Amino acid sequence: MKTYLANPSGYCQGVSRAIALALSFKKKYQDKPCYVLGALVHNETVTSELNKYGIISLTEKISNVDKIKKLPKGAAVIFTAHGHDKKLEELLKSKDMVYLDATCPIVELSASNIKKAIKDGRQVIYVGTPNHPETVAMLSIDKEVYLYQDLMDDMKSVIKDKTPFVSSQTTLSTYELEDIFKKIKEVIPGAIFQKEICQETKIRQAAVKKLPNDVDAVFVVGGKDSSNTKKLYELAKKHFSTLKIFYILNEHDIDPIKDKLKGCLKCAIISGASTPLTETMKIKVKLDEIW
Ligand code: SF4
Repeated sequence: MKTYLANPSGYCQGVSRAIALALSFKKKYQDKPCYVLGALVHNETVTSELNKYGIISLTEKISNVDKIKKLPKGAAVIFTAHGHDKKLEELLKSKDMVYLDATCPIVELSASNIKKAIKDGRQVIYVGTPNHPETVAMLSIDKEVYLYQDLMDDMKSVIKDKTPFVSSQTTLSTYELEDIFKKIKEVIPGAIFQKEICQETKIRQAAVKKLPNDVDAVFVVGGKDSSNTKKLYELAKKHFSTLKIFYILNEHDIDPIKDKLKGCLKCAIISGASTPLTETMKIKVKLDEIW
């Protein structure tokens, strides 16, 4: 099958940085057991690679406080690229634990914009995926930061501010966000919007639209919890509504769907910001060899 690889492919800057920081942190504290409070970045291949270096990801669906309670004495702890409740740093300090903050600087910038709005006495509406670590981190900044989804039924009874600050998760879909901002504006015309979708997310979403029109199938490559990959998948389904669109993690996911590929002569491959380029290339090679 002929394959077309979308540009860009491979890690975004925030993911590359988080992985490099985690590896050097582990090297520095090589005698300590090392844990990540969640998945450093949302890709299962990366998680298992880090595990080989002795960096263990705590991906159990419990709170970070409960994860910290279970840590052995003297553990070295890593906060993920998605941001975290800064109060947890105090908790680790009180337990004499060393830690690394691998938060992406772009997520950090988004957090500081929210902090500034709070300092200015504003209420904040946050548009993000419920329970995603970035959303959890932003909501932890202050009790006056409200999740948009929680306000949908009765925004006016909670948001008394005539000019609330509206922020968003860095990996949302630009197209989806426009609609949400419009809806908020209808209820609160003075709302001030700050689109925090990062450039790396934007260029990958734009790349979906630039995929060749003559493909028969599109492969979206990424981890199952990767927010930006999920948005690429939704966008591909919307933009290529008559094509076969597959969400896969690695080349092993191709065998079970081989039957569905019968008749496909050309396909496109696009990957999320936390997908290793090596995995995407293995997929390309496998698809190239199918027929
Ligand atoms: Fe940072 Fe954007 Fe990459 Fe997320 S997708 S880690 S916000 S650069």
